[in-house]
Amino acid sequence: MKKVLITGAAGFLGSHLCDKFIKEGFHVIGMDNLITGDLKNIEHLFKLETFEFYHHDVTKFVHVPGDIDYILHFASPASPIDYLKIPIQTLKVGSLGTHNLLGLARAKNARIMIASTSEVYGDPLVHPQTEEYYGNVNTIGPRGVYDEAKRFQESITMAYHRAHGLETRIARIFNTYGPRMRLNDGRVIPAFIGQALRGENITVFGDGSQTRSFCYVDDQIEGLYRLLLSDYHLPVNIGNPGEITILDFAKEIVKLTETDQKIIFKPLPQDDPLQREPDISRAKIVLDWEPKISREVGMKKTYEYFKSLSKEELLKSEH
Ligand code: NAD
Ligand code: UDP
Repeated sequence: MKKVLITGAAGFLGSHLCDKFIKEGFHVIGMDNLITGDLKNIEHLFKLETFEFYHHDVTKFVHVPGDIDYILHFASPASPIDYLKIPIQTLKVGSLGTHNLLGLARAKNARIMIASTSEVYGDPLVHPQTEEYYGNVNTIGPRGVYDEAKRFQESITMAYHRAHGLETRIARIFNTYGPRMRLNDGRVIPAFIGQALRGENITVFGDGSQTRSFCYVDDQIEGLYRLLLSDYHLPVNIGNPGEITILDFAKEIVKLTETDQKIIFKPLPQDDPLQREPDISRAKIVLDWEPKISREVGMKKTYEYFKSLSKEELLKSEH
């Protein structure tokens, strides 16, 4: 049985990755320090013999006994309000954490995949974004802590590949959504749905003309799984090219939730990218992958999930 170590296992993507690898017959070792994650996301796995969990901060030396075949480094705050609240931890998990996991991969002769992001393109001047684009990042702005940590993460991963012949994979993940996102993580989908469920106004930042392209989690996990098992070591964009403005998206949420919430406008956060859409030609060729789940279907499933949460959780998410 192949063994895979997944960091960030109690988070949104990490917990879905744990499910996927268990389903595919792997032994899964989850690792998380729970800074933005929640054990509830993986509690259903604790009864399995093929699942282990380590409560550990990966910026500290990482020790795991025995063999490991694959490492997926997904630990990192991922929502702007999280990484603005814990900027130094964000820089550390992308840099020191990645260094520790690359060292572990080398010691175990394991293949490692890192969770990079569309944020390496910053506020992009090329649209849609191809993997060849070098990006437009404000290093000293408030988002820089995340963007630069991820850019460093890619650089050190390529350095280990070149210097040590380590088997590495780099996933550039674009906005992904679905069940197990934290209601109060501040990202636009839980924010809008939470507001609709609490009967509050929907807060669009700026004039809402900025765009995003949202990928449903099941599609994302399939793309990541294929990338890990591929023989391709250069970065691959994984996301859904269905681009929409945030204002139109807010209107979709009002329709989906059958509420008559008002849309109100708040200031645009500094360095908020004006447009974002993945060019997924590379993923199509290298992974024979493209997303299959429409925003309409994905958003219905996501809304059902948030509706099923308790009233207390909903009220807790107010901020
Ligand atoms: P999340 O916040 O739900 O999960 C991140 C997990 O990492 C949490 O469980 C958190 O407790 C854990 N963690 C953070 N620092 C840690 C540390 N030092 N040691 C151990 N665990 C730590 O976020 P997510 O959306 O699941 O994102 C997962 C990864 O995917 C991140 O690396 C993120 O940058 C990347 N990513 C996500 C998206 C997206 O749309 N969800 C887009 C691009 C990139
Ligand atoms: N946004 C918004 N209202 C909110 C939360 C987010 O208008 O309550 C906007 C945000 O300014 C950005 C987009 O929605 O333009 C996506 O934000 P998110 O935090 O989900 O992810 P990002 O792609 O910016 O990392």
